[in-house]
Amino acid sequence: MAEVTISDLRKSYGGLDVMHGVNVDIPDGEFVVLVGPSGCGKSTLLRMIAGLEGVTGGTIRIGGRVVNNLPPAERNIAMVFQNYALYPHKTVAANMGFALKMQRMDRAEIDARVARAADILGLKPYLARFPRELSGGQRQRVAMGRAIVRDPEVFLFDEPLSNLDAKLRVQMRSEIRELHQRLSTTTVYVTHDQIEAMTMADRIVVMKDGHVSQIGAPLDLYDRPANVFVAGFIGSPA
Ligand code: ADP
Ligand code: MG
Repeated sequence: MAEVTISDLRKSYGGLDVMHGVNVDIPDGEFVVLVGPSGCGKSTLLRMIAGLEGVTGGTIRIGGRVVNNLPPAERNIAMVFQNYALYPHKTVAANMGFALKMQRMDRAEIDARVARAADILGLKPYLARFPRELSGGQRQRVAMGRAIVRDPEVFLFDEPLSNLDAKLRVQMRSEIRELHQRLSTTTVYVTHDQIEAMTMADRIVVMKDGHVSQIGAPLDLYDRPANVFVAGFIGSPA
């Protein structure tokens, strides 16, 4: 079980409060999208869940366990960023297996995990290629492959599609949802794009200025926005 429970989470940078007591409960297997304007605290929240950023106050639990003081490697999470730099001189297979190799996992287990991830992502024909020989969408899949091979309990995505062109972005949205359909891994997905949020989320967390403004299923937010901010944000084009 890997539900993610965020209780009264606070963050300040050098005395400046940027997160003011955020509460979100994410059940095991749910696909939650954090959405809100630039600067509202989406990345900060995700980075605190990942352990890349310290917590000023409050608690983060993953699978019931308080992780506030655990390093990222002990949290059973895997993160996919917008700027997913692949190693240019490593093949697709080596890119996907690299983190496992660093953990000194044995070769046979690495190969099995890379093969499984490649199968899931349709990357089998490309395992021996180099990143420069791939399309943008294929590179994005390799970045997801690096997360999948770690077999995490939670996937964290921070605006993974914002560098892709519009057509590819729409295609990758459905690929990421299909991936979730298949693996059922608890997912926290950050975007500033409300269309992306509406089409991908089981539930949406709307953030504003370090607060949660509303949490609900896409249609709930659309039909019953809690306030003018949510109504304006969900209702306006990306
Ligand atoms: P978002 O991802 O929603 O655009 P961020 O989480 O990056 O927002 O930022 C939230 C707030 O925290 C912003 O006001 C930003 O300027 C501030 N912030 C983020 N990271 C730092 C940092 N390392 N040092 C100081 N302030 C930061
Ligand atoms: Mg951000």
